[in-house]
Amino acid sequence: MSQKTEEKLFEEWEAVRCPICMEPPHEAILLLCSSHQKGCRAYICDNSQSNCFGRFTRSLIINEQDPSKKLVCPLCRGEVSDWATDEPARRFMNNKPRSCTNESCEFLGTYIEILEHKNLVHTRVSHVDPQMLQKLSALKDCVNQIESTRREGDDNLRRLILGSRS
Ligand SMILES: [Zn+2]
Ligand SMILES: [Zn+2]
Ligand SMILES: [Zn+2]
Repeated sequence: MSQKTEEKLFEEWEAVRCPICMEPPHEAILLLCSSHQKGCRAYICDNSQSNCFGRFTRSLIINEQDPSKKLVCPLCRGEVSDWATDEPARRFMNNKPRSCTNESCEFLGTYIEILEHKNLVHTRVSHVDPQMLQKLSALKDCVNQIESTRREGDDNLRRLILGSRS
């Protein structure tokens, strides 16, 4: 591959967005549509998290009444006859920063960084187990009880010492 075409490819991949989730495709699948020869390139995420490709192929099931059962390219509306993995494109796009799926969050990172970030920043807050909270508050009560018993014991001991002196 010559330097020039490579640069052009990078430019092309840079601009690609998954037509399902509008982010740079992760583990991209390239659709081979009827306009492929004319340069149509629809890349769709094929990962277990967003599963855009899965959602896309489900439209086949929805169209089941239609005997032709066509998958339609989301970019050119041409028929999709097959799909393929374009390894260099996939690697390139996997490393592209994408935005956090949390709307109010402005974090940008690669797919893996986003997963880690969500785990750290978002998941913990939204996934607090109510049972765990109950246990925690019971534990707090328990600590308070021990603390007050200790204070009482100290008082009694002091009184005892004071009493023995008088
Ligand atoms: Zn996607
Ligand atoms: Zn197309
Ligand atoms: Zn975030």
